Amino acid sequence: MGEFELIRKLILPLAGETRSAAVLLGPGDDCAIQRLPAGHDLVFSVDTLVEGRHFPVGYHPRHLGWRSLAVAASDLAAMGAEPACFSLALTLPESSQDWLGEFCQGLGEAARAFGLSLAGGDTTRGPLTLSLQVHGTVPAGQALRRSGAGVDQLICVSGTLGEAGAALDYLSVLQPSEPVRQLLTRYHRPQPRLALGQALRSRATAAIDVSDGLMADLEHILSASGIGADLDASSLPISPALRELAGDRAVALALTAGDDYELCLTMAQDDWQQLPDAVQAELTVIGRTRAQSGIDVNGLPPDTTLPATGYDHFGAQP
Ligand SMILES: [Mg+2]
Repeated sequence: MGEFELIRKLILPLAGETRSAAVLLGPGDDCAIQRLPAGHDLVFSVDTLVEGRHFPVGYHPRHLGWRSLAVAASDLAAMGAEPACFSLALTLPESSQDWLGEFCQGLGEAARAFGLSLAGGDTTRGPLTLSLQVHGTVPAGQALRRSGAGVDQLICVSGTLGEAGAALDYLSVLQPSEPVRQLLTRYHRPQPRLALGQALRSRATAAIDVSDGLMADLEHILSASGIGADLDASSLPISPALRELAGDRAVALALTAGDDYELCLTMAQDDWQQLPDAVQAELTVIGRTRAQSGIDVNGLPPDTTLPATGYDHFGAQP
């Protein structure tokens, strides 16, 4: 069996396992067909991941399968979209059946977890590169955008920040301690905030997912909205694991490290007070928007230095 035939044999069953009613026609024709629910907008995005730039050389294929779809799905979460389907363009060097089997396992786990149906794709030979296009839907006009934030609104983030970035220092640890294991899980198995994004529709005024680092991604909201922000370093959500491992560096990591795939959003104070408790419980208020552009961080620990923007994906490593 040729390698591309093997890929089809391993990947195509995913299309059956994950089939959703939204996909009228999956892989096998010239195009896939997706039917939109009446009164909905299509929200779509493409992400490309290159070995050595967006994930480490030799990265575990099962983690790669999960992570690549999770990262793409996180953009749907940031728009408040319901996931529908995805297509995958896979550029592969010579690879083993074991590698492909593990990759498809991770990809399939993610597709089922996020409700994304495999609708089509392409394979070609070359340096390991993945391009994933994800499609979601939102009720017409309700997609969350970066440009809607107003002055004197709350700035909130979901979950905890900084762990995935801190995990880069531990990727080669063979027998991780419990806190290190927690950090590595954040890096290997990001959890896009799909349900939260949907719950924030018509409540948040602007939203983005934290892929490049809180300050860098918040700056995208602020510049798209023509405003600035004051952040309170002491209210940043930092996990006990990160505090234990990073000590004084934890705050800087929470502000600037990427790959967490949490949501950062703005919201009017009145809307915050009316949020369901379960939604509020997933969020932390970390600051306020203001008219003057830029970001000021108050209450930083002494000697904290912050880069001008978030780190590039995968930090400074090769
Ligand atoms: Mg994004």
